[in-house]
Amino acid sequence: MKEQMAINGGEPVRSKPLPPMLRGAMVYGEEETEHVAKVVTAGSPFRYYGPNLQGAVEEFERLMAERLNVSYVLGVSSCTAALIVALKALGIGYGDKVIVPANTFTATAGAVVCANAVPVFVDMDDTLNMDVDDLERVMDDEVKAIIAVHINGSACDMDRVMAFARKYDLPVIEDVAQSLGCTYKGRYCGTIGDIGVYSFQMQKILTAGEGGAVVTNSPELFERAARYHDQGNFRDKGKHQITPKFSFIGQNYRMNEMTGAVMIEQWKKLDTVISAMRKHHQTIREALNTQLPGIRIRPSIDLQGDVDCVFALQHATKAAADSFVKAMNAENIFCFKMYGGEPIYMQSFFLHQRTTDKDNFPFNYPFQKPVIYSKGMCPHAEDLLQRTTLLPVSPVMTDEDTQDIIKAVVKVYKGLNLEEISWPNSSLA
Ligand SMILES: *Cc1c(COP(=O)(O)O)cnc(C)c1O
Repeated sequence: MKEQMAINGGEPVRSKPLPPMLRGAMVYGEEETEHVAKVVTAGSPFRYYGPNLQGAVEEFERLMAERLNVSYVLGVSSCTAALIVALKALGIGYGDKVIVPANTFTATAGAVVCANAVPVFVDMDDTLNMDVDDLERVMDDEVKAIIAVHINGSACDMDRVMAFARKYDLPVIEDVAQSLGCTYKGRYCGTIGDIGVYSFQMQKILTAGEGGAVVTNSPELFERAARYHDQGNFRDKGKHQITPKFSFIGQNYRMNEMTGAVMIEQWKKLDTVISAMRKHHQTIREALNTQLPGIRIRPSIDLQGDVDCVFALQHATKAAADSFVKAMNAENIFCFKMYGGEPIYMQSFFLHQRTTDKDNFPFNYPFQKPVIYSKGMCPHAEDLLQRTTLLPVSPVMTDEDTQDIIKAVVKVYKGLNLEEISWPNSSLA
């Protein structure tokens, strides 16, 4: 029997919304407060010197390096900063193209433009990650790097990304902003390519409000990154036992000690946050697979390694996805379409390649093969983003909250007859 959906005047599954869709931000406690207070009391908020330097950023970098099993970690002010620093460490600039997935946050492509290069977009597949089969389409001599984004807690097909990169001798940056702790075949995402970048912004797995990190196993890339993020300086010569040899003009993308202090305490909670999300995600997944045999849950290249911060569902049509979002929100279960249902290049400032510079620099470079963005460029992304809905998972959800999500999905699925809508005849389906 069908229950009356809240959108049609029935009783909503929940009388109150779920907890906010945040992760590390929901587990703040005395630890963060006390550690920040120590930095403030010491009057030493700058990472490189102070009357009573606490070394919080350095300690955080050490913890992160140890856990990820990577040689070098550099704390920075955001992941946007980390992407710019990574691109500059690799020597990317004016006249270069960088491969970016069509389905990612604006910052991934924005950072490429900030580094004076131009993004070229590859399509996505059912996993919501980069479609590796589409890489050849955008490849030419002017492409100088790939940014592989591990979207929504789930890894890209890194073996195939790396094989493609090796074939053309391209460096790989992994954008792990949304997927801290995620693994691919047992290795941490961010440590497989040449450089990994992370975000500690409020929405992310762990947070200090803002913050980011660059990780690499290459002493040369580390030195270049450290210099670029600190006005060309390299202050940790002894600590890193590498021979400083680069000299160029840098910027300021440094992490401050308050951020470092919060991140040390957040870091200790990484396992708790991830295991709570995994538990809830698994409960939802198993219940829905049993109760709604026709349901399509986002597939994963390595389910074991996912950090499960979001529950993604595919629908047969755009109309079905739109009705699902409306009906779920009426049940007081927060649900939305990823990036408003559109790939990044459909945002008008990308579509029209508008920058603050003269002649829309750096898009004005006389590329041999011009870079033009247009509707239809990445058809799978355009189609699938319109048919994909997300339900955020938070580590502080209770088992009852999880059951409410299951109840609401089943109720709305049946209420909207979603099991009866036929699927498009696509190669993805
Ligand atoms: C959030 C995010 C960023 C940017 O992170 P900030 O720390 O806010 O600059 C970059 N890439 C992806 C995929 C993101 O989700």
